[in-house]
Amino acid sequence: MCGVFGIFNKSEASNYVYLGLHALQHRGQEAAGIVSTDGERFFSYKGVGLVNEIFNKKGIISSLKGRIAIGHNRYSTFGDESESNIQPLQAHYDLGSIAIAHNGNIVNAIPIKQRLVRQGAIFNSNSDTEVIIHLIARSNRESFYDRLVDALKELKGAFSLIIMRENELYAARDPWGFRPLSIGKLDDALVFASETCSFDLIGAEFIRDVEPGEVVVVNSDGLHSFKPFERKDERKCVFEYIYFSRPDSLLWGRYVYSMRKQMGRILARESPADVDIVIPTPDSGVPAAIGYSQEIGKPFDFGLIRNHYVGRTFIEPAQSIRNFGVRLKLNPARDVLEGKRIVVVDDSLVRGTTSRRIVKMLRSAGAKEVHLRIASPPVVSPCFYGIDTPTRKELIASSHTVEEIRRYTTADSLSYLSLEGLKEIVGGSGFCLACFDGKYPVPFDK
Ligand code: AMP
Ligand code: SF4
Repeated sequence: MCGVFGIFNKSEASNYVYLGLHALQHRGQEAAGIVSTDGERFFSYKGVGLVNEIFNKKGIISSLKGRIAIGHNRYSTFGDESESNIQPLQAHYDLGSIAIAHNGNIVNAIPIKQRLVRQGAIFNSNSDTEVIIHLIARSNRESFYDRLVDALKELKGAFSLIIMRENELYAARDPWGFRPLSIGKLDDALVFASETCSFDLIGAEFIRDVEPGEVVVVNSDGLHSFKPFERKDERKCVFEYIYFSRPDSLLWGRYVYSMRKQMGRILARESPADVDIVIPTPDSGVPAAIGYSQEIGKPFDFGLIRNHYVGRTFIEPAQSIRNFGVRLKLNPARDVLEGKRIVVVDDSLVRGTTSRRIVKMLRSAGAKEVHLRIASPPVVSPCFYGIDTPTRKELIASSHTVEEIRRYTTADSLSYLSLEGLKEIVGGSGFCLACFDGKYPVPFDK
């Protein structure tokens, strides 16, 4: 996933980046970093953990001086968890200094890296983002902009980037537009962020999205837009609407919350359940469960209470801890559930571990019937464009029928939102649906 944030022309810029990263914490909880510049020097601080854990000591933020700053929340999809992989990555080269924050995954990073290494390049990290820096540094074009375009033209896959130089900020989105990136305004400052929920926190006004294939430059002359890439069919990641983005974000012209609610409504129309109450898997299933409840006309209730002081289920890498994680996070509310016929709505089912635990939990708390409804289609293929999904083998729907998955989860019934239903909700063909249909829009070497 990953979250990126940048601000140009604001005093105490790093404070705003800190807040921005805090609002984007859901996009990556593994590590974070901020790099700022006063026009000459770069200042940087990075660490492992949550934003408020990393920047919790007095003086850290104020040491990140200057009116331009960028930041990154990391969720590892490529590269290991070592410190050298924490972004923004920085480098010094013949045109000065550069810092870069990247959300996405470059599918041809390995062959590019192999070529560069053969030519003598030395890599500091094993992050796919570092290839961009090398490509920029090695381009023989004169201007930074030309070098950047040269570099980006070589990349295949997903990138929403924010790049900082001593006196300017660049923002770019790959021609397919996989990951979001929006532009906001705060007084005389311009702001870039993965999601608009971070604009709300700092009081910035949303202006527009960086368009797929667009490179935006902000410097003392204002904002300039360029479209240097060959046009491609847009392939925005549909999973941003389903799970990754925060419900209060305005994503590609639509609020994530209403999209999720609509997914719940259409799911209810496709697969109603004769039940007493509708409960969500909190928090990610809440909007869809509300939509489902409104559509079937049965009450919405909280039958599972979430402990908010535990991270998301996927944070822990080991399966054994992940299993444990569900119990750490959710506890059934017995008085809501006892003797009731229940439908439980979740946003997605990936490995099936969460659903299986939840169904058992609901039954042990006295639920008479437990019907499982998933507000997205079965996940059959892994993602290669910046989302850390399990391997195909671990994706339960890649090798099991819905009835087999129902048996595994022990639910009384199980239904997913249909692919057609999902397509109708998001509208048009400008979306990547590869994890549901296996049709990868950008080919890659496995
Ligand atoms: P499971 O079926 O146990 O693998 O987990 C499914 C749950 O994980 C769903 O409730 C989603 O909210 C959440 N989820 C789905 N995709 C991802 C992902 N790529 N990273 C983290 N969590 C996810
Ligand atoms: Fe998004 Fe799935 Fe496509 Fe990955 S494969 S970009 S998660 S829709």
